Amino acid sequence: MTNPATRDIAPKSLPTIFECSVPGRKGHSLPPLPADADALVTEAIPKRFLRREPAALPEVGELDVVRHYTRLSSRTMCVDTNFYPLGSCTMKYNPKVNETVAGLEGFAGAHPEESEESLQGILKIYHDVSQALSRLTGLAGCSLQPAAGAHGEFTALLVAKAWFDDRGETGRCEVIIPDTAHGTNPASALRCGLRAVEIKSDARGRIDLGQLKSKLGPSTACVMITNPNTLGLFEDQMHEAAALIHEAGALVYLDGANFNAIVGRVRPADFGADLMHINVHKTFSIPHGGGGPGAGPICVRDFLAPYLPSPWVVFKDGRYMLERDCPKSIGKVRSFFGNVNNIVRTAAYLRQLGAGGLREVSGHAVLNANYLLSLLAGTYDVPYGIRCMHEFVINATRQKNLGVKAMDIAKKLLDYGFHPPTTYFPLIVPEALMIEPTETESKETLEAFAAAMLEIARLAETDAARVTAAPETTPVTRMDELAAARQPVLAWPKA
Ligand SMILES: *Cc1c(COP(=O)(O)O)cnc(C)c1O
Repeated sequence: MTNPATRDIAPKSLPTIFECSVPGRKGHSLPPLPADADALVTEAIPKRFLRREPAALPEVGELDVVRHYTRLSSRTMCVDTNFYPLGSCTMKYNPKVNETVAGLEGFAGAHPEESEESLQGILKIYHDVSQALSRLTGLAGCSLQPAAGAHGEFTALLVAKAWFDDRGETGRCEVIIPDTAHGTNPASALRCGLRAVEIKSDARGRIDLGQLKSKLGPSTACVMITNPNTLGLFEDQMHEAAALIHEAGALVYLDGANFNAIVGRVRPADFGADLMHINVHKTFSIPHGGGGPGAGPICVRDFLAPYLPSPWVVFKDGRYMLERDCPKSIGKVRSFFGNVNNIVRTAAYLRQLGAGGLREVSGHAVLNANYLLSLLAGTYDVPYGIRCMHEFVINATRQKNLGVKAMDIAKKLLDYGFHPPTTYFPLIVPEALMIEPTETESKETLEAFAAAMLEIARLAETDAARVTAAPETTPVTRMDELAAARQPVLAWPKA
């Protein structure tokens, strides 16, 4: 197949000019300094703050700067340029109208110290989004403070802990977590002073009820369940699991990162969830990952609502205000209101789609994933059945036996102009590639990606070195990922 990677338009053979500085070149022209400039400066700025030597800044013209940054921006692989099937991250298209709305002066220019009176619009959006999330989840209480999914997990576990403490159940110090869970689940439990207890999944990749029963007891505070789970499978014994958990006096925490598969169709409260977080930057678009921050609202059952972070927004006497009299609240978990711009984007997204639109979102997310899975299933091993929810996991052991690992396949995809899927997660699948196309991709894109995957599988059989040497077409080829993570070079010139 031809290579659709057209990101870097400069021919490969030309050296890329990264260091553009030329001594003496300037990008500005200022009027000459007045004769008494020195005196004026020392009057305005205390002497100890004055620079003794000129700053070591690049000496460049305006055009050099424009070209430098435009060139660099074109090297970014992002949702706006390339298919980005990063499993569990729901890298869907971000409608530009969301950006327009979030950029409106009243939102972007608001100061967090403004009075409630002048922030009525933002408070109304907070009120409306909380109510919408409560309707979608079936959970009456909502807090928009947490800054991300992991922060939502942490906040919700603090809420659960406060509720147990209030009831005198201080011995509940364990959180049961399936082995398919995201690493943030045990990390959040630990951060709240709770102990993570792992349960193994059954042969079908779901919660093993026997395992669950054996670990449940008077020390259990919560069981954290991801549904659909990270294998892209619906937990079809969710009702039974929730009944067992509630019988043991514990709470069901739902990791809502995969909400995109069921949003508008299933209310997590109806399958037993007591608390959950929503990654609005996954389910409700919003640029994230390298593209920006997210937000991780939590929804909880009514009896847990008094413990939510304070203050919260209420509508009283015809105006929106912040309720600060929240005696049982765990307090603040985020400065001011949280990531306001992402709550505004969420509001815009929800408004555009409405309940019917959201149903279509989850329907198409699941359809796209199943179509893609059907295109790959003959060539790659699929460990947990050929039906999935919004994402699926393939096992590249067949290719590894030919000398091509899951990571090599991921790297080779870059040469075809595709962002790699999530690799080596969930941990229970060897050589895992976790693929989530999302509902915003066309049939043609899914087919082009499948064609690249099949071509890579063919190369693994005929010319494995072409795969293990990848990527070949990107500005930076195979990296030492360990060094990149442990010793990142973040400044230029290198310090
Ligand atoms: C993304 C994700 C999280 C963590 O969410 P962040 O917003 O990245 O902190 C937790 N669980 C699962 C299953 C996820 O996919």
